[in-house]
Amino acid sequence: MVSKTVHPFPELHTRRPKSHRLHLWVFASELLRIEGDPEQGDVIRVFDQGTYVGNATFAPGSQIRARIFSREDRDLDVELIVERLRTALDYRQRHLPNENDFRLLFGESDMLPGLVIDKYGDHFVLQVFSAGMERRLEDALSALRQLFRVESVYAKNDFRLREVERLPRYERLLYGCVPENIVIRESGVHYRLNLSTGQKTGFYFDQRITRLRVRALSRNRRVLDVFCYTGGFALNAALGGATDILAIDGSEMALAQLEENARLNGVANRVKAIRGNAFQVLRDLNANRERFDLIILDPPPFIKRPTEKAQGFKGYRDINYQAMKLLNPGGLLVSCSCSHHLSWEELLNVLDQSAQGCGRAFRILERIGAGPDHPVLLAMPETEYLRCFLLELV
Ligand code: SAH
Repeated sequence: MVSKTVHPFPELHTRRPKSHRLHLWVFASELLRIEGDPEQGDVIRVFDQGTYVGNATFAPGSQIRARIFSREDRDLDVELIVERLRTALDYRQRHLPNENDFRLLFGESDMLPGLVIDKYGDHFVLQVFSAGMERRLEDALSALRQLFRVESVYAKNDFRLREVERLPRYERLLYGCVPENIVIRESGVHYRLNLSTGQKTGFYFDQRITRLRVRALSRNRRVLDVFCYTGGFALNAALGGATDILAIDGSEMALAQLEENARLNGVANRVKAIRGNAFQVLRDLNANRERFDLIILDPPPFIKRPTEKAQGFKGYRDINYQAMKLLNPGGLLVSCSCSHHLSWEELLNVLDQSAQGCGRAFRILERIGAGPDHPVLLAMPETEYLRCFLLELV
């Protein structure tokens, strides 16, 4: 008698066109039918118009109904996570030689959807965006411990997107012991940080390349670092030979850290911090006729969802307008956006409106994105979010 083999994973059939096959998300609107009875976080096999395209985790309550994690028919287990981490590490060692602190894993971009891991030496901070990974947190922990000497793993899962995925918000130490402070290094600059009270996962590794550009452009310039956080740009400007740097942020904690970082890197005498609302501080600086040769604007995302676009545009327009007015002739503006929903073209449009508002003409020198530890997938525009323009006042 021939026995029929039953495949363990349910099937999810989609209407996705061929041109979407390399995209790792199946949206609810693309669903045709499900064969079997998968539950939240279960592994399923995905078929696009009848063609098998890979295995995914299932999220019945989410707009992103399935996230593909493998092109082969296999489980999402410790073994797979170890493979993904190893590949991700290899890639970073190739593109960021000599660095020890970086984003080790960037979810979809590293073929492990829903999981982000920042590596701070032997300390790891992770963020989980999907039900599939939430259920496998322990596996992720085991995988990390197989590959690294792990001192601590901290889950920083208290963010709004978790609610969209119907996941609880929390922060929790998963393993080991987090010292009160650790010192990390990016491109030779040292930062002391507090992993549990810091924003995001503690440090913004995504601006690595832009910071290096700022360092290279700062010699003999008076620099204004707006939305400075713990000093990523201010410190690079100082090390690049800026005459003096004014750094602005609304967070007292961030500025205390910045001042400590300035001492740590031996540049405290040239960095001054102002606490306040950046919009107001820039207006005050203009009122006082202050001028700068290089200004960095690295605001938080003003557009967090598509419905916030109009309001967000206004924020970008205002802050850029104020910054443009503060520039000396020949001055440089590094204007950044980390809003997923603001395209390069839209950002450029906003900058053009700001420039027209103050009647000043600019050249576009460069556009700079996130560093190599935040890879952007060609097939998945959603993996790109950081956009910076370097402009020069004509
Ligand atoms: N440039 C930083 C990262 C900036 S993150 C770096 O290189 O590390 C955004 C920062 O903007 C946060 O530190 C936050 O405290 C600050 N911020 C948000 N809204 C603000 C406002 N209205 N005025 C001043 N600072 C603000």
